[in-house]
Amino acid sequence: MQTAKAYSAASATSPLAPFSLQRREPGPHDVQIQILFCGVCHTDVHIVRNEWHGTTYPCVPGHEIVGRVVKAGAHVKKFKEGDIAAVGCMVDSCRTCENCKDGLEQFCQQGATFTYNAPDKISGGMTYGGYSDSIVVDEAFTLRVPKHLDIAATAPLLCAGITTYSPLRFHKVGKGQKVGVVGLGGLGHMGVKLAKALGAHVVVFTTSPNKVKDAIRLGADEVVNSKNEDEMKKQLNSFHFILDTVAAQHDINAYLALLRRDATLTQVGVPAEPLSVHVSSLIFGRKNFSGSLIGGIQETQEMLDFCGEHNITADIELVPIQKINEAYERLVKNDVKYRFVIDMASLK
Ligand code: NAP
Ligand code: ZN
Ligand code: ZN
Repeated sequence: MQTAKAYSAASATSPLAPFSLQRREPGPHDVQIQILFCGVCHTDVHIVRNEWHGTTYPCVPGHEIVGRVVKAGAHVKKFKEGDIAAVGCMVDSCRTCENCKDGLEQFCQQGATFTYNAPDKISGGMTYGGYSDSIVVDEAFTLRVPKHLDIAATAPLLCAGITTYSPLRFHKVGKGQKVGVVGLGGLGHMGVKLAKALGAHVVVFTTSPNKVKDAIRLGADEVVNSKNEDEMKKQLNSFHFILDTVAAQHDINAYLALLRRDATLTQVGVPAEPLSVHVSSLIFGRKNFSGSLIGGIQETQEMLDFCGEHNITADIELVPIQKINEAYERLVKNDVKYRFVIDMASLK
């Protein structure tokens, strides 16, 4: 075992604070990564504050990790020491169940080992995430980063990127389709860039009038102020697909009304309280309301390669780890453009 520096929360109400933890010695299939950057996902806030009621403390969040390989086990093929490597929301799964075999490790029937706040099947205890200076991960759950992309701005692709890419691909979003992205935050702004790169006509729904210009710059063809009923009415029955990234309570029926016949609204944002769907919103027009969870490892690599080809990264604000509690406050107040990324060089 070796000691790593980190930031952890001791309870749902305590701020994140310096912490030290143990990482396992890398085995033959493991890489040890010196973490350079870690994105700050809204999920980190939900879990640190126990909003989903399943947090074990101390909790070290972080699942948008990019760093440098400092040790590679004898059987590691993907990397050598000195290479840049990335880790997303999972660090292991059973690899033998139907879902793992289909490349959908996030739905592992024995439970995927998520990067933090999950039982650690190798070392015992709970997994600790990327708000740390190092991590040890089986190479099967690591990703390669296209060489020409800025590595700090690549970190958010590991969650926000794959979480939006996977449903866009699953629902075959492309040219000739009108696609809505609800909420222009970390996930939403990646959804806009990716849907645009896939060839769709992209419409952003925002509650923040000060984001309109950015939405267009990021690739939106239209922007709708979702609080304005007239603007919403103009969009009725017109969408082939809508991706909803909103992390708070909102009227889902207002968006189902915007779908064309047989079209789908996929929810990726996870409000702490249930959303209320009127059955009539679905039966008139045979509409679908679905969900999606991150994406499998192979698809995450495909997304990174796609971003490499299209020069897509996140719009980020780099913060030192000492400012993480302030960053959480700002994230909750919707004051980030569009992803905080922790510069791990600050963790001394
Ligand atoms: P974020 O950066 O905070 O973005 C959420 C956006 O939702 C905000 O920027 C805001 O956009 C909109 N919003 C916030 N409060 C709202 C309200 N009361 N009513 C309407 N809109 C509101 O968060 P994120 O990191 O993108 O994460 C979004 C959600 O996805 C979180 O719940 C997170 O846990 C979840 N998530 C899910 C997965 C998955 O696999 N399914 C993966 C990662 C994250 P506007 O200002 O444009 O309105
Ligand atoms: Zn996330
Ligand atoms: Zn499995």
